Order: sequence, then structure tokens, then C-alpha cells
Amino acid sequence: MKQIYRFSEGSVEMKDLLGGKGANLAEMTRLGLPVPAGFTITTAACIKYLQQENYFEQSLKADILKAINQLENEVGKSLLNNDQMLLISVRSGAKFSMPGMMDTILNLGLNDDRVLAFAKLTNASFAYDCYRRLIQMFGDVVYGISKETFDDTLHKFEAAFGKSVADFSIPEQQKLIEAYKIPYHKQQKEFPQDPIDQLFIAIKAVFHSWNNQRAQVYRKLHDIPFNLGTAVNIQSMVFGNNGDKSATGVAFTRNPATGEKKLFGEFLPNAQGEDVVAGIRTPQPIAKLKQLLPTAYTDFMRYAEILETHYKDMQDIEFTIDQGQLFILQTRSGKRTAQAALNIALDLVNDEIITKDEALLRVTPTMVEQLIHPVFDPTELKNATVLAHGLPASPGAATGQIVFTAEKAQEFHEQGKKVILVRQETSPEDIAGMVVSEAIVTSRGGMTSHAAVVARGMGTCCVAGCEALTVDEYTRTITCEEQTLTEGDIISVDGSIGTIYQTELQTVTPEDNQNLQRLLTWADERADLMVRANAETLQDLTAAIHFGASGIGLARTEHMFFGEDRILEMRRLILAEEKQEFDIALKRLLSFQQDDFYQMLQTTQEKPMVIRLLDPPMHEFLPADEQAINQLAQQLKKSPVRITNQITQLHETNPMLGHRGCRLGITKAQIYQMQVEAIFTSAIKLAQNGIVVKPEIMVPLVAEEKELIEVKNALLHTIENLFEKHGINPFPFEIGVMIELPRACMTADKLASQADFFSFGTNDLTQMSYGFSRDDIGKFLPIYKEKGILLQDPFQTLDQAGVGQLIQTAVEKARQTKPDMMIGVCGEVGGDPKSIAFFQQVGVDYVSCSAYRIPAARLACAQAAL
Ligand code: ADP
Ligand code: MG
Ligand code: MG
Repeated sequence: MKQIYRFSEGSVEMKDLLGGKGANLAEMTRLGLPVPAGFTITTAACIKYLQQENYFEQSLKADILKAINQLENEVGKSLLNNDQMLLISVRSGAKFSMPGMMDTILNLGLNDDRVLAFAKLTNASFAYDCYRRLIQMFGDVVYGISKETFDDTLHKFEAAFGKSVADFSIPEQQKLIEAYKIPYHKQQKEFPQDPIDQLFIAIKAVFHSWNNQRAQVYRKLHDIPFNLGTAVNIQSMVFGNNGDKSATGVAFTRNPATGEKKLFGEFLPNAQGEDVVAGIRTPQPIAKLKQLLPTAYTDFMRYAEILETHYKDMQDIEFTIDQGQLFILQTRSGKRTAQAALNIALDLVNDEIITKDEALLRVTPTMVEQLIHPVFDPTELKNATVLAHGLPASPGAATGQIVFTAEKAQEFHEQGKKVILVRQETSPEDIAGMVVSEAIVTSRGGMTSHAAVVARGMGTCCVAGCEALTVDEYTRTITCEEQTLTEGDIISVDGSIGTIYQTELQTVTPEDNQNLQRLLTWADERADLMVRANAETLQDLTAAIHFGASGIGLARTEHMFFGEDRILEMRRLILAEEKQEFDIALKRLLSFQQDDFYQMLQTTQEKPMVIRLLDPPMHEFLPADEQAINQLAQQLKKSPVRITNQITQLHETNPMLGHRGCRLGITKAQIYQMQVEAIFTSAIKLAQNGIVVKPEIMVPLVAEEKELIEVKNALLHTIENLFEKHGINPFPFEIGVMIELPRACMTADKLASQADFFSFGTNDLTQMSYGFSRDDIGKFLPIYKEKGILLQDPFQTLDQAGVGQLIQTAVEKARQTKPDMMIGVCGEVGGDPKSIAFFQQVGVDYVSCSAYRIPAARLACAQAAL
């Protein structure tokens, strides 16, 4: 097995084996870009190493030594001799870019002896700067010694010698280096002096870093498999910390916040590696490089263009300038905001660089969700008090309580509080806290700082580098001029303009986004599945149409019984002991519902609407406490005792499996008849006004073919009478079934013979298949997830292996009976992209979800079809 590839041997297609970074280093080398020479140890070698003891010694070591030898010959330098000194970096790189998650060691190959030689070849402060960084990074990556430990030592020495480290003499530098080794000794370790030992230990540490805690959190968050492993890149060093004509930087080929086609980035003169993103010194905008190092700047512009054209996407490029000479150290597709992703995708289509289909894959459903998310109410903004301004690192708007640590963020979040994480700067350890925060604020760091990059990736709003704030994480206070805020205080954050307000602010839905409309139109053209809405209130129905619903997949009618004015009539009906009373209640309900349906149908007009007949168990309509019972007794002119008795009689041990759905429709047939009369009277009225609607009546909780026949016959009878009564030509309508019981799935062929359409009610179907009560799953799901028994909440993402199989079986059986029957899915998972991909496969016709999830679902449907 070939387990090492020189950069000149690989290509971008080899990401599985070389990791993202390695494959791109290889690709750039092939393109002729100035990439320092090096080689990549494969991900397969990493997995083998993690699995097999002795693998390194027996199978890898020799190959690495051979590759080092080749590298030495290629660059004409050596890791061992002191004349032509080769220093190298050891860089991890998994298949998927995991910013800040894995570890890198620079300047490897220096030791007490070689640093002296290096100082003679270059200069002392530079040489020792490299060596100190090596000891620090090595200590961090290999032995987990914190950066602060080393920084403290440095500051003590600077104070003691009364000068900055750049001015230390060689003996002073040597004393400092000895002090840097003390934290090693505290762990009974040594900083290895042999460059080859350094290399081997470093490689093993990078392999192990695949399993470090923050990598695991990141993979969970982004659904990256755990068994991929990381590659290791060994690369000869170039130096951005080698004087004023040297620099290191990061740049995007387009603006990652807006998508604007203009180089966007930052650099730091005389700096190395992560200095730019670590927020230690504030970096300069890339445009400044033009004055400072014009040749390197021109070169960089050219390579940026080459890379973007080659990869057909916005690139995030890491570069270093070593005494005026430019080197490219990394390129990858740049992380971007939802807005930028959309704008870039459309620009690239306009420029004929990518196709519409490719554009549909460049924007994720989650991004679409972000694009329709709220901003601050402009009228409230006028009176808002600004606390401070920082960098607009990730757009969006949020209000919440201040917390200072990731732990507190999680703790508050679990208590149902909305939190804003405020820190000097964030680090990968903060990930879990960042995930649960509404917004992230840092007092240090730039647009490419950890906080900024991670927040943009998560679509969380973020203001970075808000230097007016003094953040004290120990006393848990923020001071800003005279103001002091403490943990729990409320602030509002606008990540689009970088402003922090001291006021609690309401948010509003953003205006129509033309580019989004365009993309979603393409999505609709491409999709097989249609998207309907679960909506019944006029507000939701209007929103659903606004967001492009092709119809209504589920209009629940419960609200027509629960409304303040109706509940009394419903209770009167349930508790009626004489026919007359029952009829009065029914008549009143009918008149309420006629108005309701008329308005609903008028809102959606010719768009199809599935109306589900009454579903919940009886007892849900009845009062529970004494006071309410007494009040009801008065209203119904009955004795409280009598009512209490009736309620007791109606009590069910297990109401979710009790007297509900079509069971109610059969035992109290008048209720469904009344509903259907209300629907058709409204539809007839609309028809008389020239608006033709086609009601789709859905019967819930059917398990038996005969249940359906019973309900259907009664309804058909009512409907025919109505047509006759109004003297109108019958218009088309449908009567279908909500498939939400496992038995209904298994007998779908029989049900199909009686039904005009099916719609899977995945909430109940999941509940009935797993036997998990939807309302109680919260008690054990977290533990199930922790133990890996369940990876996802099956009420949010369809359980394909179980519930999905029932659905597939039902679709197949139904299509045997009626090949063209319309089959939909309503319920939470109807809006979930992963579940949508499954519904596409099994041949469902449409999904239905809540109004705000529609735009994302439309894109997900297109992606499922591509
Ligand atoms: P990450 O995966 O965290 O981005 P990298 O492997 O890209 O880590 O390394 C971080 C930084 O270290 C790079 O951006 C670059 O500035 C610096 N670096 C890595 N290798 C070299 C090298 N061979 N010469 C100079 N700088 C390097
Ligand atoms: Mg890093
Ligand atoms: Mg990098």
C-alpha cells in the first residue's frame, strides 16, 4: 500500500486519501503555484495507526524516512546538517475542512544546537522566535501544555530583562528557552532534541488529534463520519516572521459576508502561522499589502484569480511572504454566509462558470432558512441605545442574556434562556457553547478570527473585535466606558452591521430577496416532489403562499373547536343528554365553521387544500379543574356533580390510543358531517363567485378499510345532499386517508381502493411504530443520544430503517391498487432535508411542512432530485 504521496503526485480528486489540505496542496503544485515542497501521509495510514499497535514502527517509519530523504534532495537542505538547514511543518488535514479542530506544528527540526546555527545563518531574534514557537506548539499538540503557560513565562522574562524579546541577547534567549522546557519537565517529559524524533512524535500526535474532544464535537455538529482519519502533511518551512518584508495572511477571493466579487482578507507583517486568526495583533486589510509589498501583492492577485477559476468557487487562501517572496500554503472553498453563498452561486451562473444545477447545490437548505430569518424591527431601532460597535462578522440579529463561558451558555440554554456568548476571543474549546448561543461577541480578533469563521459556518450572528468592550471572564463583567454589564444582562446584537445594543429588541422578517426567489424558481423546475404547507390560521395560510407553497398539505380543524367562543358549544355537544341540546350545539358549531372555511378557502383559492377532520380525543375539550367545571355547569345550567360524573365517564386511560380520530367520526358521525357540510357550503359559495376550489377531505387515524367505508359513505351522502340542495353541478373533491398507524401501512392496498389520496402523518406513525410518546420522549432521548442508541430525534428526522420501511411498503401497496394516487407526507419530517431525500426515493408526490420551512424544503426537494 502506498501510504505517502509527494505533493507533485497527488491531485484534488484524492481528498479521501490525502485529506482536503493535502489534495489541494497537490493540486496547487500541479497548477504551478509557489507551494513549498512536501508530502502527505494518507488517511488510510492514520486509521491503520490508530487501530494497530506497532504499525508505525513496522510499516510507516521507513517510508517516512525515505520521503524525508527525497524532500531533502528536492530542496537541497537537510533536517540534520547545520549548513543548509531544512525546517518543516507538520500539518493535519482531514477530508472535510475542520477549521481550528486539528493541530499543526511549525519550525520542526530546530533544537538547542541547530538554533544557534540558524541564528548565525539568519539573526538571533528570528531564529529564537522560531524555536520558541516550536517548543510551544509541540508542547501544546503533543503534551497539552497551554499557550498561556508559555506566554506567562515570556512576559516574566521580558519584565525581568526590561526589554522586548526581539531585543534579547543570545544568552538571554537561551535562558528563556530553558524556562520554556520547565512545563515539559513538570510532566516528566523532555523536548526531543533529535529532529527525527520530533517528527515521529509530531506525526503520531496529529494522528491522535483525529480523536481529540473538539474534533469530535465538530464532527458531530457537521455530521462528519468518525472513521475517516486525518492525513498528515509534511512541508518545508517558509517564514513570514523573517523581518519587515515578510508577512502571513489569509484572504478570500470574494467577500464571505456579502459575496461581493472583491478580494477580502487580512495580513500581519513579520508574523507566523496562526497569528492572523489568533487575534493577538490586529491584522491589516489585504489592500494595504499593495503599498507594503507590491510584487507579492500582484502575485497574490494573480494566483487568487487562477485558483478561483480553477475551482469554480470562492476560495479561502492562506499565504506567507518570506522576505518579499510569496508562497501559497492552503486553499479551500471559503466558508460563507447564506447571503454570500446565494449571491456567489448566482454570479457564477451569470458568468457561465457553473450551471443552474450546480448553483442549486452551492446553497444549503439551512442557508435558505437563515435568509428568511428576522432582523431587528427598524422602528424599535430608532430608540435603541448603542453599547458599542465591532466588526460585522456574521449577519443576523438576536437578543439574549450575556454569558461569559461556554459552560454557562449551555447551562442557561438548558433552562430555556436565550444567551449571547461574550468573550475576549473564542477558541475551539468553546464550540459547544457557541452552538447554543443566539449570538457571539468578541472583544478581540478580526473577520477571520475563530469566532467569526465558526459563527458564519453555523449561521449564528456574530460581532467580533469589539474593542470598546473590556471583557473580564473572571469577574463576569463587561465594561464599556462608564457602563458595566454583568452575567444575565440583556443585550441585542446585529451581526450584519457589527452593532451591539443595550436594549432588548424585537425582530422582523426580512423583505423579499430577489436572488432567493430566482434560486427557488430553479429549484421548483428541477424538483420532483412538491412542497405544501401545514397551515390553518389565515396568517399561516398567507405566509405559506408567500413562501411558495404549492398547496396546503394539512389544515387541522381542531382550532375550530377550541376557540374561545366555540369551546362552550363543543362542550355542550359532548355533554348533551338530549337530542335537542346536541342539535343546537352542532348548529352553532356549523355556523362558526362555515365562516372559518370560507375564509381559509378564499385565502388559498385554487391551490389544493387537505382538510383533516377532527382528530384529538374527546377529553381534551373538557375542563379539568374545579373552577372551570363550576363555570361550565353554570353556562350549561347543569349541576357541577353531574358534569364531574360525565367527565369521569369519558376519562380514558390512554387517550392517544383512545376515542379519537375516525373512531370519533364513527361514534359521533354528526360531527364529521357537520364539518363536511361547513366545508362544502363554503366551497359552493366560492364556486358561485367563480372561484373553483377542490376540497381534499382527510380522515385521520384509519386502521381498517371498513372504518373508511363507514365514514366515507356518510360524508358522500351529506355532500350529495348539499349539491342537490344548492342546485349546483357537483364539482370535483376527494376523500383520502391520513396514514399514521402501522396497520394502515400494511393494508395500504385495501385502503387505497377506498381512498382518493394518502398523506402520511409521520408524527403519529413514528409514535405508534416506536411506541414512543411524542410528549414524553424528552425524558429519555438525551440519554439515548448520549449512549448512541438513537443518533437523531425520530420526530425530527425520519427513522428510515423502521418508520421509513412502513412508508415504503405502504407506497408500493397503494400504487399496486392505484398507480396515480396522490401521496403526501405531513408532519415535522416533511420539512427535513434528509427525510425529503428519502421521500424522493420511495416516490412520494409532495411533502408538507410549516410555512417558514417551505423555502428550505423547496431547495431540499431540488437537491434530492439532482
Ligand atoms: P489549519 O488546518 O489550522 O489551517 P495549517 O496546517 O493550515 O492549519 O497551518 C496553520 C498555519 O501555519 C498556516 O496557515 C500557515 O500560516 C502556517 N504554516 C503551515 N505550514 C507552513 C509552512 N510550511 N511554512 C510556513 N508556514 C506554514
Ligand atoms: Mg489551526
Ligand atoms: Mg490552514
